[in-house]
Amino acid sequence: MVAATKAVSVEHVRTAVRAGVRIVGENRLQEAMPKIDVLGPCDGLEWHFIGSLQRRKVKNVLGRFRMIHSVDSLELAQEIDRRAAEAGMRQPVLLEVNIAGESTKSGFPPSTIIQAARAMDELIHMEVQGLMVVPPPAKDAESSRPYFRRVRDLAREIEKQDFRHIRMDELSMGMSQDFEIAIEEGATLIRIGTALFGSRPH
Ligand SMILES: *Cc1c(COP(=O)(O)O)cnc(C)c1O
Repeated sequence: MVAATKAVSVEHVRTAVRAGVRIVGENRLQEAMPKIDVLGPCDGLEWHFIGSLQRRKVKNVLGRFRMIHSVDSLELAQEIDRRAAEAGMRQPVLLEVNIAGESTKSGFPPSTIIQAARAMDELIHMEVQGLMVVPPPAKDAESSRPYFRRVRDLAREIEKQDFRHIRMDELSMGMSQDFEIAIEEGATLIRIGTALFGSRPH
């Protein structure tokens, strides 16, 4: 479980960590940095970047986050690879899938992801470990099931390619409203905010 802590104070994050949370997911670098400075990386606490990432922020994200869930373009991937090479590291990432082709959402459409993955297979300082999805807004959790299933099938399809470096070990899918369905459909990472911390101020 990734505790999604946007708009959650460092004190509340600390309480969650004391209660057993081991992975913290932040959406914005600006908000995450002071929390990381105060809390970790202590006691094996992992920080994941789950929000949309601008290319110019990549250099500050590297080294701070164990996993970036939200690689949504080849250009972003190339920047991560370039910066990771400079830093002498390999950055684990997930590819964000725009599973319903929503124009308001970022992520790779399923129709282009294999081609993009082929290009990313050459980027040896970035390690693709799986897929991430935020399905379209839904009234009930069950409506998300077909999207989770399609993401899982897409991961299996990518696994069948002859990629050398790309792995599909992780599926980051499911939030407070629909994590149980996501787990049934193969999620390995669920991102939980409201169910842990209550609703966020708007
Ligand atoms: C906020 C957020 C979550 C958590 O959503 P909840 O519905 O509060 O559980 C998960 N993933 C991402 C990318 C988020 O921005």
